[in-house]
Amino acid sequence: MGYIELDVLNNDAPRVVIGIDLGTTNSLAAIWEDKAPKVLAPDGLSAMVPSVVHVPQEGNPVVGSAARAQALVDPQHTVFSVKRMMGRGLDDLDLNHNPLPFAVAEDGRKLARVDLHGKLWTPQELSAWILVGVLEHARQATGAEIAAAVITVPAYFDDAQRQATRDAARIAGLEVLRIINEPTAASLAYGLGQSEPQTVTVFDLGGGTFDVSLLSIEDGVFQVLATNGDTRLGGDDFDQTLVQLAREELTGQVPAELFQDPAFLSAARLAAEKCKQALSSDPEAEMHLALPEYDLNWRRRVTRQEFETLIRPLVERTLQSCRRALADAELTTDQIDEVVLVGGSTRVPLVRAKVEELFGRKPHTTLNPDHVVALGAAVQAHVLTGGTRDVLLMDVTPLSLGVETVGGAVSKMIERNSTIPCSHTEGFSTYAEGQTGIDFHVVQGERELAADCRSLGRFELKGIPPMPAGMARVGVRFAIDADGVLTVSAKEESTGTSSSIEFKPMHGLTDEEVERMLDEGFENAQADFDQRRVVDLHTELGTMLAAIARSMEPAQAHLDPESLADLTEAVEAAEQAQTSQDRHQVQASRDRLEQASLPLAAILMDGVVREAITGKKVDEV
Ligand code: AMP
Repeated sequence: MGYIELDVLNNDAPRVVIGIDLGTTNSLAAIWEDKAPKVLAPDGLSAMVPSVVHVPQEGNPVVGSAARAQALVDPQHTVFSVKRMMGRGLDDLDLNHNPLPFAVAEDGRKLARVDLHGKLWTPQELSAWILVGVLEHARQATGAEIAAAVITVPAYFDDAQRQATRDAARIAGLEVLRIINEPTAASLAYGLGQSEPQTVTVFDLGGGTFDVSLLSIEDGVFQVLATNGDTRLGGDDFDQTLVQLAREELTGQVPAELFQDPAFLSAARLAAEKCKQALSSDPEAEMHLALPEYDLNWRRRVTRQEFETLIRPLVERTLQSCRRALADAELTTDQIDEVVLVGGSTRVPLVRAKVEELFGRKPHTTLNPDHVVALGAAVQAHVLTGGTRDVLLMDVTPLSLGVETVGGAVSKMIERNSTIPCSHTEGFSTYAEGQTGIDFHVVQGERELAADCRSLGRFELKGIPPMPAGMARVGVRFAIDADGVLTVSAKEESTGTSSSIEFKPMHGLTDEEVERMLDEGFENAQADFDQRRVVDLHTELGTMLAAIARSMEPAQAHLDPESLADLTEAVEAAEQAQTSQDRHQVQASRDRLEQASLPLAAILMDGVVREAITGKKVDEV
């Protein structure tokens, strides 16, 4: 995995936090400024960075519009739709139906990789380059360094896809404040759910995909009730109806092979898109197709009504998805309080009208549908960095609440200034093989290490059946009721073993104590960040070294001498790094160990697969 050097720790420039919409087609960033979120666009440039990466034979990859311009010139090395590959295998990509102009292969772990000039690129690395493009855009627009970001992902993204998104940020040298769901961000951008509990529909129709999400928002807790959609439905299909119209009317007038010519396909698609977009504001528009080499100069006026007849079946499919989502959530349309539109294709008047008709209410349309998600991410970034301090009221948690995790770091469960009542549940697992109990240490404060926060108490979840490390699924729920009483409960999912304890976090801290802890949090933010990272890295190193030690036998038997020597050296360096406090050194050792252990991982994976086929044990392979 390649690491992109990004000087985000430069202390001279001001540092800001931003929200990032890492999209399939376009990505963009937004920031909270003057009491509102706004998208970031350098002077004279669009806020949108096309999510396209061009990898030349030599030199660094190119991102954004410059990369998109290479799509026709060098299609084999111009990668788009990376988001669809994140955390996915080849089977998931369905390449028979979605052929791509660049080569996609599978690595030893059955994950999709893109083959560019003989090097296999992970989707994470390619996404990291897109993030680098967005960060550069943001830096130019703000004149500041980007300290951290909230990044959005689709609500249906699973753990692997979310983790892949985090990894992309890590490779790009970007600290992720939080990963949030795109529909949650869209709702935040409109400030929904701030007063009464609400049920919101987020209707997201982009260029190639359609997603609908139903959310309940109560006391600042956004819960996804249901999602539905179609990964092959979007504005491109609207364009195709007009391309088809052109084809039908040109049949007989031009040689049949013209319809297969890439020049025709590309020109027709562009002409159709232009006409479609004009029809969003005008009752009539012209589709103009000019191909001088075929002596073709075709003009056709299209009325909005005619276009609507063509796309009606497609729009009906989006409504079907909405009905399915409603059924899944056991809701009826009259229980929906708000409808939010996201994605460029929601500008089509028929789409707006049909959505309004189905839900019986006007959708929110005041914000640019292409910007809504990034704007919401900026709102969340602002909240997470304490931006709502000026509205600190009695009914919010004055300090963050969290649990201590392995190595003494704090996993924050409820951020300070969250309005109460509120709750948050997060999944944890066991660290050691056969671990049958987990000791939870509940802490309050803004610092990254538990030792620097105020301890609220401990409780233990016992009776977890012995399992391999990392297999137990323990849901930990923090809930603060209207009186400020915190209840922490933990439940192991496979056995249902549970335990809980009540704390009173709102009492016992004086205002001065709260102020001091807040100030310390700000003053020590950078030192904490480094220290916290070192603790996390030591933990990771420990886990990796233990796993490698367990696999030394197959490693010695099956690794080629060069890989084995490389692994042995990396292990020695990692063992030394375990006592180092230098973040950069520990990070470098960890990365080197990961790289050096890849051949071993491939052998083990092969072994597991073969074992599954032949019934042999790994070390017999
Ligand atoms: P997104 O994936 O959200 O960037 O949406 C891109 C899609 O929105 C493309 O199919 C565009 O053609 C479409 N789009 C952008 N502007 C308009 C518009 N004014 N009217 C209709 N469709 C539009």
